[in-house]
Amino acid sequence: MRYSKSFVKTLRSAPKDETARGAQYLARAGYVHKELAGVYDYLPLGLKVLDKIKTIIREELDAIGCQEVLMSTLQNPEPWQKTDRWDIKKMDIWFKTQLAAGGELGLAPTHEEPFTNMMKTYISSYKDLPVYTYQIQTKFRNELRAKSGIMRTREFIMKDLYSFSANMEEHDRFYHKAEIAYQKIYDRLGIGNDTYQTFASGGVFAKYSHEFQTLTDVGEDTIYYNQDKSVVLNEEVLNDEVLAELGVKRSELESAKAAEVGNIFTLKTKYSEPLGLEFTNQNGERQTVVMGCYGIGVSRVMGVIAEKYADEHGLVWPEQIAPYQYYLIGIGNAGTQKAEELYNKHQDVILYDDRDLRPGNKFADAELLGIPYRIVLSDKTLAEGKAELTNRATGESKLVTIEELAF
Ligand code: ATP
Ligand code: MG
Repeated sequence: MRYSKSFVKTLRSAPKDETARGAQYLARAGYVHKELAGVYDYLPLGLKVLDKIKTIIREELDAIGCQEVLMSTLQNPEPWQKTDRWDIKKMDIWFKTQLAAGGELGLAPTHEEPFTNMMKTYISSYKDLPVYTYQIQTKFRNELRAKSGIMRTREFIMKDLYSFSANMEEHDRFYHKAEIAYQKIYDRLGIGNDTYQTFASGGVFAKYSHEFQTLTDVGEDTIYYNQDKSVVLNEEVLNDEVLAELGVKRSELESAKAAEVGNIFTLKTKYSEPLGLEFTNQNGERQTVVMGCYGIGVSRVMGVIAEKYADEHGLVWPEQIAPYQYYLIGIGNAGTQKAEELYNKHQDVILYDDRDLRPGNKFADAELLGIPYRIVLSDKTLAEGKAELTNRATGESKLVTIEELAF
């Protein structure tokens, strides 16, 4: 992209009430625009990052046999009434709206009920199982407090996957595949080393659920881990019984702040039972479908990465999800001419700062935007037939030939 053609410009200041550093940078660098508290718009650069995150998630889920769908965001109250979650006293984060002709609809906070209900149309025999369906979609939650920019919002993008299995053995096999796929996803997103699968409370139907927690000072959760991090648990399950079962002592655990970037749940028949999702087994008997649900906070992941890797100059994107790989600056006549040439050849990976600005301003914006590599072409570098290549994360610069730039 040519910077001068983008409608987005970097801003000198972030919205006043934006306190987290990464959130301030996302606003100042033009990735997101704050609509109101807990509600954000994604601008061209932000949308590119989101799309890259989504692509990684899709590739890993498709690889374990999942199919993508897109459910409606307007929801029918009926299935929610059957599971007793329509009442605002049971689920306090509902946004609801009215039909012109009378009657209420819900604005999707999550999708267990609609998915379970829909599957009654398509699952009737053991031959129809298993089914693994997911979507990447907007969720609405009337959170009491929005926090840390796009990390906790009232409208956000979630990937939610639901598994439908004939029995617990089949369910457990898939659950394990999902655990591995999740680890791969966080690895590819660039946060694998700091993301831990934790034991979390499982509700009524399974002993534990698992969360994926990324270490970050702005995280809302506290996790506990032993030295080699082979046991990591959430605060809510930190009790004597659980510690004994996991074979660790309280004194062996350290704590850290973390943000929940995903979770996986064994639901068993929590939703299929009240909604009557059944199938006929090989012996002709009716049986209730066993379910699991698997979430990833797509927009929260973007917020966590923005917070976690920012430094005093701006954002620092991992290469895999950066909107562009190179931030290109040409200085002087020869430098600018060479930059134009390079940009024309590799438009899809380069953000070319062709604005009529002093180099110092461009360097500052290159850092604020967090593009992984900066390329500077000037009379000085070209005298040696080279370009200056600077790594945003390490700050290291070196002179390389154009051919050495790995496009
Ligand atoms: P939390 O404890 O943070 O409120 P949750 O248990 O309500 O999360 P789920 O309903 O399981 O979360 O949603 C799946 C994922 O969606 C979470 O792991 C998280 O990454 C993300 N998420 C949940 N609530 C929000 C929100 N208000 N804003 C942004 N992302 C969210
Ligand atoms: Mg919540």
